[in-house]
Amino acid sequence: MTAPETLQTRTLAEAALAASTCVKCRLSSGRTQVVYGTGSPDADLMFIGEGPGFHEDKQGAPFVGAAGQLLNTMLAEQGMAREDVYIANVIKCRPPGNRDPLPDEIESCRPWLEEQLRLIRPSVIVTLGNFATRFVLAQPVSISRVRGQRFVVDGRTVIPTFHPAAILHGGGMASKQMQSLRDDFAEIRRALDERPQPAEEQLGLF
Ligand code: URA
Repeated sequence: MTAPETLQTRTLAEAALAASTCVKCRLSSGRTQVVYGTGSPDADLMFIGEGPGFHEDKQGAPFVGAAGQLLNTMLAEQGMAREDVYIANVIKCRPPGNRDPLPDEIESCRPWLEEQLRLIRPSVIVTLGNFATRFVLAQPVSISRVRGQRFVVDGRTVIPTFHPAAILHGGGMASKQMQSLRDDFAEIRRALDERPQPAEEQLGLF
């Protein structure tokens, strides 16, 4: 999915600035602002959701509403904070009425996410829900079948899990889905802990 590293020509901040004026699809006309992504540009762990909702469109950051609160809770349970990870979406502009993104909108937005992945180079990618999972795995899978499993895409570990909004609108905090989400976050933590560590000479110790 990602282009060779040699094509890295700008920083994440420069890419975000370029994205902020994007008019490649119809969603640009209805947005308050582009929601590019937030977090550490060096994150080992990157989350990919579907697209901005009402609050994200207003605040310019992903997962700041109720689903974001649940994401924060799951991260905290595994000893992680939002600042340590990077969070983005498949599409960067809010669809009207929070409708599903259309295939041509996803394709128009593809280069932004592909560039983010190339620049951040996370070891572990977590796809939240069907849209992000199908995008990253490039297969028409069902999230309930693949959640919690590890896949390898372009040398990176991909772990799909339920979209937090699906828990909030579905079974709720005592549901089986919620327990699956918890289990998947424990698996994400394990995958991160098992990732290859940089060689000592790369750390500049010697
Ligand atoms: N749902 C998403 O998929 N992304 C967000 O940023 C917020 C809610």
